[in-house]
Amino acid sequence: MSLIVQKFGGSSVANAERVFNVANIVTDTYKQGNSVVVVVSAQGDTTDDLIEKANEINPHASKREMDMLLASGEQISIALLAMAIEKLGYPVVSLLGWQAGFQTSSSHTKARIKRVDAERIRKEIDKKKIVIVAGFQGLNKYDDLTTLGRGGSDTSAVAIAAAMHADLCQIFTDVKGVYTADPRKVPTAKKLDEISYDEMLELATLGAQVLNNRSVEMAKKYNIELEVLSSLEREPGTIVKEATKVEKMLISGIAKDKDIARISIIGLPDKPGLAFKVFSKVSAANINVDIILQSVGRDGTKDITFTVAKGNAEETEQILKAYLEPMGVKEVKADTHTAKISIVGAGMESHAGVATKMFEALYDAQINIQMISTSEIKVSVLIDEDDADNAVKAIHQKFFD
Ligand code: ADP
Ligand code: ASP
Ligand code: MG
Repeated sequence: MSLIVQKFGGSSVANAERVFNVANIVTDTYKQGNSVVVVVSAQGDTTDDLIEKANEINPHASKREMDMLLASGEQISIALLAMAIEKLGYPVVSLLGWQAGFQTSSSHTKARIKRVDAERIRKEIDKKKIVIVAGFQGLNKYDDLTTLGRGGSDTSAVAIAAAMHADLCQIFTDVKGVYTADPRKVPTAKKLDEISYDEMLELATLGAQVLNNRSVEMAKKYNIELEVLSSLEREPGTIVKEATKVEKMLISGIAKDKDIARISIIGLPDKPGLAFKVFSKVSAANINVDIILQSVGRDGTKDITFTVAKGNAEETEQILKAYLEPMGVKEVKADTHTAKISIVGAGMESHAGVATKMFEALYDAQINIQMISTSEIKVSVLIDEDDADNAVKAIHQKFFD
C-alpha cells in the first residue's frame, strides 16, 4: 500500500462534470489499496473573480482581508469534491489548510509554508478516509488565514508529500505534462518524458506556469519525485526528478514572462558607490531586481538599466526620480511594454553556441533584443511585449522543429 498525494488545478474542477471526473481518478487510486491525500485549487477562474470583486469594493484593501476572501475559493472546491466522492460511496473528509496543519509565515498574500503538522491528516487516513485538503492556504502565528501566492496549491501538495513521506506526488492539470514551450501558444511543442529539478525550477521561475517555482524548490529539497499529468486523459505525464540522463538535453524548454518592466537611468555620475546607492533605495522598498546592465562610462556619466516586476515599475521610477533628480540625473524612466523570453537546458553548460542560435532565431524574425542575461543553464532576453509570442515560436522552431 502506498501513500499518494494528488493535486488538481482549477480547470480540473471547474464544473460538476469535472469534479466527478476528479472523484473517479481519486477513488480509482483508493480502490487499488492506496492511501490518498488530495489537494485542490479553486474552481476555474474563481481566484481571479474574487480579486475582481475586491477591486470593485476597495482596490487598496488590506492584504489580511484579501487572504480572508481568496481562501474561500478553495473551501468551495474541497467541499464539492468531497460531496462527489460521498456520492460514489467512499469514505472522505475535506479539510481547510489550518485543519490540515499548514503553518505559514505571516506575510499575507505571499506567505511561505513553515511546517505542516500532518497529525489530523494521518488520523483520517488511519480511519481509511480519502482526505481532501484546500490548497494555497494556511494559518500564521496570529491565527490569521494566509495564502501562498498565485499558483500556490502546487506547493501545498508538495509540502504534504514531504511532511508525510508520500510515495508519489501527482500534479494533475489541463495539459499532458511539461512541454518544450507552452503548448497553448506553440502547437508544435513537445511533451517531455522527464526533466530535472534544476531545469524545471528555471522554467517555472522564468514564466512556465505549469508548476509553481516554490513547489519545485521544495520537491528538490526533500527529493520528492513529481509527475505532471492531465486530469482529462489517462496517460503518463512528465516526471520531475534529480538529473540522471547521461546525455543532457541541449535545451529542455522555452519560457515567456510578461510580468517584467525595464527601468533606465540615463546620465548617472560615473563614480564609485552609485550603483550601491541606487539598488539600496530599490531594495529598501522590498522590490526585487532581475537583469542589470551598466554601460561603459563616457564624459563622466554612465547609464544603468534593470528590470523589475511590472507591478513595481511605477514605485521604482518614483523612488529613483526623488533620489536622482536633485543630483542632476537627466532621465529615469520605466518601460512596462516588455517581455522576457528564456531558454533553459542543462546541456548548455558543455555546448558552445546555444545563445548564438537563440539570437539568430530572433534576428531571422527581425525581433530586437533590449537586454541579455545568462547563467549556467539559461539565456534570457528582454524584448518588446508585442513580439513575445513570435519570439517563442521562432526560437522553438530553431531548436526543436
Ligand atoms: P492548474 O490550474 O492546473 O494549476 P495552470 O494554468 O496553473 O494549471 O498551469 C497549466 C498551464 O500552464 C497550461 O494550460 C499551459 O498553458 C501553461 N504552460 C506554460 N508553459 C508550459 C509548459 N512549458 N508546459 C506545459 N504547460 C505550460
Ligand atoms: N487558486 C489559486 C490561484 O488561482 C491557487 C492555485 O491555483 O494554485 O492562484
Ligand atoms: Mg497552477
